Amino acid sequence: MNQTSTAIQVRGLRKSYGDVEAVRGIDLEVSTGEVFALLGPNGAGKTTTIEILEGYLQKSAGEVHVLGHDPARKETAFRERIGIVLQSTGAQPYLNVEETIDLFRGYYPHPMPLEDVLQATGLGPQRKTRVKKLSGGQQRRLDVAIGLSGDPDLLFLDEPTTGFDPSARRDAWGMIRNLQHLGKTVVLTTHYMDEAQNLADRVAIMVKGKIVVDGTPDELLSHGGGATIRYKLSADAAPMPDELDGGVLQSDEHYVLVTDCPTLALHRLTTWAIREGVELQELTVIRPTLEDLFLQLTASQGPEEA
Ligand code: ATP
Repeated sequence: MNQTSTAIQVRGLRKSYGDVEAVRGIDLEVSTGEVFALLGPNGAGKTTTIEILEGYLQKSAGEVHVLGHDPARKETAFRERIGIVLQSTGAQPYLNVEETIDLFRGYYPHPMPLEDVLQATGLGPQRKTRVKKLSGGQQRRLDVAIGLSGDPDLLFLDEPTTGFDPSARRDAWGMIRNLQHLGKTVVLTTHYMDEAQNLADRVAIMVKGKIVVDGTPDELLSHGGGATIRYKLSADAAPMPDELDGGVLQSDEHYVLVTDCPTLALHRLTTWAIREGVELQELTVIRPTLEDLFLQLTASQGPEEA
């Protein structure tokens, strides 16, 4: 049984496929009830890591504990406590939603009640609809419903909204929040940075087999530098004094100032502008997004290290 509030603990995990070192010594910790997002460019080692956590792949080295079990042992007690939602689940097209969920519930000794599965996934209105008549977004919800059938404590979601339109994505995010309200721990992979920023309590970014940063989205963003201030000045504006850091004039006529102290920088700039009667046109202050950080981290990794 899980005596601690740690759902997943990984130390020094490594995995090689022949000469290819896919995972090169990672540490990870996921708390019970957390939504944790594993991000990274193609080939970073995310799938390999997740499949080791699920018990599908054997590690080469390191320690892995999931819900207090070593997943490699494939114990039934472990299998019954995890749910796995892959890119596509083979639901029978001629069964309806309710029949499909009941079929999978039948495989588990303590399944989640049907009504709870329908409620968590928002599939109540489609309960009598045949699988083949569901929209793409609804089929993906059914995949999650199947993953929930055994009432797992921990759910793995592989790219849960790939191919969704914006409104279906918002609905899916609502569903993932429902899972969290039910006390489930959720580990998800995604290529959408806004998805991770909106949904995840904690995020880890993996590049070339290593975790390069992890933390809450806010922690990661405050790491990435405070803010960017942008504005334009009209041609007849008073010249800016040298001692005022007004940023860099870019080719699109905007001044851009990147600063770790946006309040102070803005105060200095607006004090000067008000004194001189200058309008800071199109003034914006923007926080970097997780996507900016992701691009910066993946770009800075450069070519393959030794
Ligand atoms: P993606 O976002 O494209 O799914 P990923 O981050 O999930 O990528 P992995 O699929 O874990 O990355 O792959 C990590 C590395 O291991 C890659 O270099 C990949 O080519 C290699 N790899 C993965 N599976 C195997 C395998 N069965 N045999 C050999 N090499 C493999």
